[in-house]
Amino acid sequence: MSPRTATSHRRISILGATGSIGVNTLDVIRHMGGREAFDVVAVTGSANATLLARQAREAGAQIAVTADERLYGQLKDLLAGSGIEAAAGREALIEAAAIPADITMAAIVGMAGLEPTLAAVANGGTIALANKECLVSAGGLFIDAVHGAGGTLLPVDSEHNAIFQVLEADRKQAVERVILTASGGPFRTFSREQMESVTVETARAHPNWSMGLKISIDSASMFNKALEMIEARYLFDLAPGQIEVIVHPQSIVHSMVGYRDGSILAQLGPSDMRTAIGYCLGWPFRPDLPVERLDFAKLARLEFEAPDQARFPALRLARQALEAGGLSGAVLNGAKETALDAFIAGRAGFLEMAEMVERVMDQMADLPEARTLDDVIAADGEARKRAAAMIP
Ligand code: NAD
Ligand code: MG
Repeated sequence: MSPRTATSHRRISILGATGSIGVNTLDVIRHMGGREAFDVVAVTGSANATLLARQAREAGAQIAVTADERLYGQLKDLLAGSGIEAAAGREALIEAAAIPADITMAAIVGMAGLEPTLAAVANGGTIALANKECLVSAGGLFIDAVHGAGGTLLPVDSEHNAIFQVLEADRKQAVERVILTASGGPFRTFSREQMESVTVETARAHPNWSMGLKISIDSASMFNKALEMIEARYLFDLAPGQIEVIVHPQSIVHSMVGYRDGSILAQLGPSDMRTAIGYCLGWPFRPDLPVERLDFAKLARLEFEAPDQARFPALRLARQALEAGGLSGAVLNGAKETALDAFIAGRAGFLEMAEMVERVMDQMADLPEARTLDDVIAADGEARKRAAAMIP
């Protein structure tokens, strides 16, 4: 990374600007000096052209892109007279991601984020990575692409951002394990019987964090933690046995690193993604942010408990994928995205999601290592097809 001061001007693109992370990113940019500090290059969205156009105008973006081709006319009209270019469609999205920027916030949800993020990676700039699916599906290939382009990868996901904050890079040899914290979600204390009939509305109601629909439901099933275990493996180059999960209902300790001398370093904070986003946007400087300050007297206690693998089989499936390596992450994620869409559409039960993923993983257990992005896309597509065939 080139040397800079805390106040130097930088170009930034926000992929998935209209989502939960995207909206928070634009807020952090405002608190970090807005147009005085950042030139916004591209903002992208999919369904909500009105919000996207408003964001583009407010931030003074160069280009706004919706992934949905049908929204081109609407977006163009909304941007008329602003001097901001409007574009639409998957190809336009990937082209916009490829426009040189010093930093790219990669916050598209799901496997749909992989190719646009890789287009940004090729520029060799800094990637603030919220989209965990890039690492779950493409793993080592994604890391190699970042290194190959001479870029810098900074984790936005709160657990991985916490680990990054307390990982003493020059003492990597001394790291024994990382401990990912999990809130346990809305069904932490539910019985398996109760979990069988939960609805999308109850599953999306996260006790601590306000997030997009899909990651909220993934938190309820703990598939989110499953993805994060695989994400941690590639981000920090860990062996599967070095990755642990502990349930921590208060979501105050965002994750921990255990060292060989018995020390544990943790990062704590309120459940507000702006801290992790700001850490990435300011790195290596910490910005001033108006997030809530922790009051330990009011918190009173922090609790920890072992996760229940019987009610949350996603954790066991992640362990299986970690041990198998290679394309098993792409298979797990592809099947999971299909199962999740089915649950959201009312076509699969909550516990059926993990059953579907497990069956697809069993069917596709003997895959070779991925050598190219096409291998990843093929495994993802096959996993989706097999999962879809299980939906009545
Ligand atoms: P979200 O659903 O709120 O927003 C998703 C964004 O992606 C939107 O801008 C949407 O328009 C865009 N998008 C959706 N489908 C698309 C497609 N097919 N093509 C192009 N763009 C598309 O999601 P979010 O909660 O902001 O999460 C974004 C990513 O960050 C996810 O990978 C999630 O796992 C990760 N993440 C989110 C949080 C959080 O607090 N929200 C925390 C950690 C990690
Ligand atoms: Mg997380």
